[in-house]
Amino acid sequence: MEYPMICYNGGRPKSDGTYSQRTYESMVGVIIHEVGHNFFPMIVNSDERQWSWMDEGLNSFLERETKRERYPDVNISWGSPKGMAGYMRGDKEMMRPIMWQSDDIPPSDFGSNAYGKPAAALTLLRETVMGPELFDKAFKEYAQRWAFKHPKPADFFRTMEDASAVDLDWFWRGWFYSVDNVDVDLDEVKWYKVKAETKGMENKGVKTQKGDLATGNNAKGKATDFSNGPQEFTMINTPDASYSEFRNKINDADIRKNLESKNLYEITLKNKGGLVTPIIIEWTFKDGTKEIEQLPAEIWRLNETEVKKIFVKEKEVTRVVIDPDGKTGEVNPADNVFPKRVTENKFDSFKKN
Ligand SMILES: [Zn+2]
Repeated sequence: MEYPMICYNGGRPKSDGTYSQRTYESMVGVIIHEVGHNFFPMIVNSDERQWSWMDEGLNSFLERETKRERYPDVNISWGSPKGMAGYMRGDKEMMRPIMWQSDDIPPSDFGSNAYGKPAAALTLLRETVMGPELFDKAFKEYAQRWAFKHPKPADFFRTMEDASAVDLDWFWRGWFYSVDNVDVDLDEVKWYKVKAETKGMENKGVKTQKGDLATGNNAKGKATDFSNGPQEFTMINTPDASYSEFRNKINDADIRKNLESKNLYEITLKNKGGLVTPIIIEWTFKDGTKEIEQLPAEIWRLNETEVKKIFVKEKEVTRVVIDPDGKTGEVNPADNVFPKRVTENKFDSFKKN
């Protein structure tokens, strides 16, 4: 018996018998995916009629992981946080959360809701929130604990938490029970230098332009770049009355010495998308070098809409970017950059011409 050489996406071999990259990738993808279903939902037997994400989402995540490890020549952007940002940016009024009964997810939404978004969520959880080691340990625990049983969503959520000892309630709530997205705005960056205690005429330590609201500020008086130079930051000694019982005294002189000549940056972040998220910051310094720093999602625990944090840097910073590689699923990277790019809207530039 002869079979036509048609694979999953209808890709046929080219006239010379070879396959296109796209056909190859679809074939690799579909084989990994269908083999994966032997485990989810056949062995870890969730109810796929009720919760599609428990088999398709987990399986899409594992498909992507397998490609990443075994098939480095295969594109894995779909199902990554960055790859799903376009979907997450969509109209919230029209979207359903992942935790939605399968039958009631519109067919046009099904691929993103049940496959792509859960895969992106688990990728974010593994790579950025928990770290691969802890995630893999907890995920294996879920697979083993629930093999040949019938886990419900809460069993997955609970197992990931108690096998890792990480509180992930905020993560499940945001990514699985809501249609919010990750949209962080780098609202403001303030630059300070500790005022050097120089006596006399010479004050070479600081180049302050106090009160200068010239070029670098926008209409609200917020700096849009670093052109105003650092603001002065004076540190007075801690009054004795500030020390209550059991509180150790700090050495003000030591602290002042530690901060002297260093650059202090206070950044203000606003959460516009609703999802609380870990923050990845890329600092670029005057000498061209870069540094990546990461803050856990817990920075939002006391205020889910705005946080401020101060960083101490030896070198002068020329540029700050939040989530430079789109690892958190950021849907609007344009407002994640400082200095602010001055963008004219299309209407204004049209009017000028
Ligand atoms: Zn499937």
